[in-house]
Amino acid sequence: MNKLIVLSGPSGVGKGTIVKQLLKRGGYALSVSCTTRSPREGEKEGVSYFFITERKFGEMAEKGGFLEYSRHFGHGYGTPKAFVEKQLVNHDVILEIEVDGALQVKKAYPDALLIMIVPPDEEELKARLIKRGSETSQSIAERLSRNAYELSKRPFYDYTVVNDDLQTAVEEIDGIIKSSKK
Ligand code: 5GP
Repeated sequence: MNKLIVLSGPSGVGKGTIVKQLLKRGGYALSVSCTTRSPREGEKEGVSYFFITERKFGEMAEKGGFLEYSRHFGHGYGTPKAFVEKQLVNHDVILEIEVDGALQVKKAYPDALLIMIVPPDEEELKARLIKRGSETSQSIAERLSRNAYELSKRPFYDYTVVNDDLQTAVEEIDGIIKSSKK
């Protein structure tokens, strides 16, 4: 039985890099979310996200087209249900989403595995987020306060993994997923 795997964690913690490494290992598919925010440099339609209008987002939400959705940073983010169900036929599917959405997934799919990725320390995380350089300082501030909220939901997650060393974190997550399927 293939699994829904939810990866969350504060902004800048390295979720994206971890996901890339997991995908390289094979057996996993990545859910592509819908968002109403604009693409950042280098982001591709249908790969990074499906970039949709507010109107389309509202329609999908109303018609039950999302497996979960939430609004943060002034934009809508949602997991397209049909897309994920199709991927689940042949793969474990990774959802890289924030905590409110993650808890909705757990409610609807109690077998989903919720893994939170945390930084070795907060200062290190702040440095990473600023280094990313794709945000304004106001948006960085918003993300930092959001991070505290994300971390506060840690008790609701099945596992917490510290991203100190990338390969160790990837190994650990892969191991958690494999053993959850035994
Ligand atoms: P960003 O704008 O930096 O790509 O993402 C901001 C936040 O939205 C991240 O915490 C990311 O995990 C979350 N996110 C991305 N896609 C979804 C989604 O489909 N649903 C929910 N609930 N959050 C999402």
